[in-house]
Amino acid sequence: APAIETRTFDTEVHQLLKLMINALYSNREIFLRELISNASDASDKLRFEALTNDALKGLDHDLAIDIAFDAEAGVLTLRDRGIGMNRDEVIENLGTIARSGTRRFLESLSGDQQKDARLIGQFGVGFYAAFIVAEKVTVETRRADEPADAGVRWTSSGDGEYQIETIDRPEQGTTITLQLREEHRDLLTEWQLRRIIKHYSNHIAFPIRLHKPAEEKDGEEAKADKDSAETELVNASQALWTRQKSELSETDYTEFYTSLTGDPETPLSWAHHHVEGSQRYSLLLYLPSSAPFDMLINRDEREGIKLYIQRVFIMDAAEQVVPRYLRFMRGVIDSADLPLNISREMLQDSPLLKKIRATVVKRSLNLIEKLAEQGGEPWQKFLAAFGSVLKEGVIEDFEQRERIAGLLRFPTTATEGDQDLAGLDDYIGRMNEDQEHIWYLTADSLKVARNSPHLEAFRKHNVEVLLLTDRIDEWLVSHLHEYKGKSLKSAARGKLELGEKTEPDEEARKLAGRIKKALGERIGNVQPSERLTESPACVVADEHGLSPVMARMMRQAGQ
Ligand code: ADP
Ligand code: MG
Repeated sequence: APAIETRTFDTEVHQLLKLMINALYSNREIFLRELISNASDASDKLRFEALTNDALKGLDHDLAIDIAFDAEAGVLTLRDRGIGMNRDEVIENLGTIARSGTRRFLESLSGDQQKDARLIGQFGVGFYAAFIVAEKVTVETRRADEPADAGVRWTSSGDGEYQIETIDRPEQGTTITLQLREEHRDLLTEWQLRRIIKHYSNHIAFPIRLHKPAEEKDGEEAKADKDSAETELVNASQALWTRQKSELSETDYTEFYTSLTGDPETPLSWAHHHVEGSQRYSLLLYLPSSAPFDMLINRDEREGIKLYIQRVFIMDAAEQVVPRYLRFMRGVIDSADLPLNISREMLQDSPLLKKIRATVVKRSLNLIEKLAEQGGEPWQKFLAAFGSVLKEGVIEDFEQRERIAGLLRFPTTATEGDQDLAGLDDYIGRMNEDQEHIWYLTADSLKVARNSPHLEAFRKHNVEVLLLTDRIDEWLVSHLHEYKGKSLKSAARGKLELGEKTEPDEEARKLAGRIKKALGERIGNVQPSERLTESPACVVADEHGLSPVMARMMRQAGQ
């Protein structure tokens, strides 16, 4: 008999398993979503590899996911006919932390079950969710392009060790068997399983079949109408994006979003198009309602737009089709015209994909503009989650600069609190008749900004000033010199031209001279000012010099 080898999990995996069971207990049903999603990924991979791997070409790819259960024994099995895994892959995927998601997942667990359940989908630690409900998990698998005797059996009780052995497995793909803990056996009814599959996995593009347990059937009857009566197709099992908009309900779209992203929250909005003409493709884009926790830190991580070619999943193409400043967009693109055997490198330079990218940018900005027009809570949510990411677009995307700038919102001297924000168009609409510039003031916080002596003269002349307190704002204004023909000017720099000129009096001039003499080289210039109505003095940056906030940022960076 082949040797059974016992191995220990990496410490982090062990830790993860313990946490998973405790943290997600009340969301136990997601385990099925995760296992189905892995089966679906494996089926996608098989299709993709079959395009180029001769060993897989001739195979009959009846790709379906079969789910069966035995309530009495407390067993649930899931079987796919996907790519499967060889021994090394099993060890790598189901036992180590080599996969980046594991550690980051651990670090970001918050103790809030709702939030943590959401993280599972985002970090790719889904397989371990099986241990929420199972006391023992068995994985039997064979990589589709390897011989029948290269099968692998992996078993674990989730307590720090797993066993691995080589087996014969004529069928390709993976079977996962869960021995459920006593208290979770209530899940083992047709009704429960059907409900959970429909709820979380309705839009998986492969058929999910639920097998009725043997003892429910009458011996004779069962033989009579064999397979059809024994299994039930549970999910919609059709790629949602290929269907016509008119056939789809709001729930279809939101459910699909959840199965695509693992995010249980409802997206803010979406756009679904079938593009015809010189290039044909389907496009389904979603605007999520909140940011994945690390989106702001990881500017370079763009994930979440899946590229299909003729319904075959090719890869995550977010990097190819969305610029950084739209990295929160999620969705699917399915091209009818890109060649199926295209390599990643070729994709990078494909003119077809460049066109798709231009469309994705336009459609995404459309979605955001619509949301802005409708206003209200969804728009507030968007601004809170993605407002500062969008600002990067003004810096990055020259072509769309004005369009993006029009979507930004800021606190101003004419608004109150930090919820009440104004766009540049609102500002222009309120400008005084003889006002030429859009004035702004950058500061570390709204409180500092509102109390700044620089604003005194603006108040006196009733001129609105944008208060920019986001970290990125300083860079923003260094790229956005004008908007709709009005130049943006700092309220803290150079000369003010508000209202009519008055001659500064002789006393003030003398005082300025004395101060300059006392401070000498430490200061550029001392002048009587029209900026102030209450404060005795304030520091003003040179028209072309660094602003105080920028100067501080440079100092902090050690420059
Ligand atoms: P993710 O799916 O995000 O990668 P999981 O923890 O769900 O993370 O799965 C870990 C890995 O295990 C997968 O990336 C895949 O390589 C492998 N795997 C899991 N289930 C299957 C399966 N049914 N068939 C083939 N490989 C699988
Ligand atoms: Mg997974």
